[in-house]
Amino acid sequence: MKIGFIGLGNMGGPMAANLVAAGHDVTGFDLSAPCPDGVAKADSAAAAATGADVVITMLPNGAILRAVADEVIPAMTKGAVLCDCSTVDVDSARAVADQADAAGLGALDAPVSGGVGGATAGTLTFMVGGGADAFATVQPLFNIMGQKAVHCGAAGAGQSAKICNNMILGVTMIATCEAFALADKLGLARDKMFDVVSTSSGYSWTMNAYCPAPGVGPTSPADNGYQPGFAAELMLKDLRLSQQAAESVDADTPMGQAAAALYAAFVEAEDGKGRDFSAMLPRFEKRGRGG
Ligand code: NAD
Repeated sequence: MKIGFIGLGNMGGPMAANLVAAGHDVTGFDLSAPCPDGVAKADSAAAAATGADVVITMLPNGAILRAVADEVIPAMTKGAVLCDCSTVDVDSARAVADQADAAGLGALDAPVSGGVGGATAGTLTFMVGGGADAFATVQPLFNIMGQKAVHCGAAGAGQSAKICNNMILGVTMIATCEAFALADKLGLARDKMFDVVSTSSGYSWTMNAYCPAPGVGPTSPADNGYQPGFAAELMLKDLRLSQQAAESVDADTPMGQAAAALYAAFVEAEDGKGRDFSAMLPRFEKRGRGG
């Protein structure tokens, strides 16, 4: 397939490289990141999109996605598919899909989980919103860049799934960390806490697979000085998107709101920026009820 790839940063770079390695013809554009080996460099986003069967975007946020879509949609061939893999607000995903549809293009919102490791290894999970035909067109590419692609529904459904999942993840990580910090103060050994909770009704992915306590459970960023992994500021971004979406549809999400406020304090007022999102545990360790 002829693919245009816009946004070749930490995630987009290795994703584009995997498409090239699988034999696809990829033309890329980024404002600053270099093109991976084998990706032809275009001078603009529109040039990367011209003549492509599929245009993939992997950009920082919804405002940038909208600006790039304004530029690439008029350059794309009718019947081609615009597939956005960034994590953006649901409203931007739907607006771009409407704009693509009006121009006779297919459109997908296909955010990912799996991080830079998954992008490099080709083991991402894609959560996809948009039409069935567009999904069928891009599915072979999802199979190269990832291990699983779930067609979640119409435009916006992929972003909706992503932010709901990550709202659970953020809330659960905080709950796991505050419980460890409480257990510490009660004199309960962390390995005993892990043994009990990981096999009891408090179990979760954050406890069982990504334990925030160093030296306990499987190897996780906690065992590596809380180097990300999944950085606290990316969790904050996703929690804010969840709260923006909740406001737009009048959904009551008190735990998501509290998690967003805690990660905002951690990243913006404390030492959380650049640390893994599980570094909430050392944060709680240092605190008492008064802060
Ligand atoms: P990044 O900042 O490394 O990459 C974004 C790239 O977009 C940059 O290279 C930037 O130069 C480029 N860019 C910005 N504006 C542009 C424009 N107008 N035209 C062309 N290129 C432009 O970010 P990333 O970590 O690769 O993340 C990309 C997206 O994936 C984000 O939406 C993020 O939330 C999501 N995501 C990231 C991770 C992760 O672990 N890094 C995990 C899941 C999802």
